[in-house]
Amino acid sequence: MRQKRAKQYRKLMALYSMSFGFRQPYQVLVDSMICSEAISSKVDLVKRLEDVLQGNVKPMITQCCIEELYLQGSALQPAVDLAKSFERRKCNHREAIQGDECLLNVVGETNKHRYVIASQSNPLRQKLRLIPAVPLVHINRSVTVLEPPSDATLKQKERIEETRQHADEPETQLIANITAGPSNEGVIAAPSEPLVRKRKAPRGPNPLSVKKRRVDATKPAGAKKAQDGHKAKILKEIAPKSDGEKEVDGQEGAQITGHKRKRRRKHGLDGKGEEGGGGDEED
Ligand SMILES: [Zn+2]
Repeated sequence: MRQKRAKQYRKLMALYSMSFGFRQPYQVLVDSMICSEAISSKVDLVKRLEDVLQGNVKPMITQCCIEELYLQGSALQPAVDLAKSFERRKCNHREAIQGDECLLNVVGETNKHRYVIASQSNPLRQKLRLIPAVPLVHINRSVTVLEPPSDATLKQKERIEETRQHADEPETQLIANITAGPSNEGVIAAPSEPLVRKRKAPRGPNPLSVKKRRVDATKPAGAKKAQDGHKAKILKEIAPKSDGEKEVDGQEGAQITGHKRKRRRKHGLDGKGEEGGGGDEED
């Protein structure tokens, strides 16, 4: 039961913080009645407030509410002492007014300061249920209770979520425009992506074509020469069959002297490549 309630309260406080911006320490405005109730039912008010609100609390009391306690005489001295330990919330009522009225006044129409109200006054809580996002706490038979969200709170929450969704749409569009926008084309994502793709595109087919080359390339240089030799052999075999022997011879020679050319290149950088090779052949 306790766990179930703790979970309930956690969800409820998540609602207040997510939808209405409640933050720890939660500012809890207590009234005079809950102070006296806490004393009479031996409830550790601050501790219980932390329990139900599931976080740090900053209990506060208005001048009018503490005045109510003073007026009740020395019998309520422990309640006065408790109330005195709380931060005083200035309500600017020059002459103390009734506690309920004072709290209604401080909460206002929107509870913009995000107060939690801890009050034993039923009429006050009823009125505060009409104002969205006013967490209400009271003590019921020495059990501190956080009320479920009021209809006004739930409706306001829905409204906020709707406006957030609508706000999200143009935002996402904006982001899309920014990333694809012409002004930023030369700067951010839009151009860099195609560039990367351009790089990738030639790389894509290359591995396929390179693989075959790699098979050859992985062979040692000697193997390549041997291959050249092999080609030459083939050419030799073909050569007699072909009509233009001289041309074939020329090719043959070029193929055979390929080694020499390469050696030459290694030793003395032969600038004229194949022509130099041709010269070698003549030698
Ligand atoms: Zn006041």
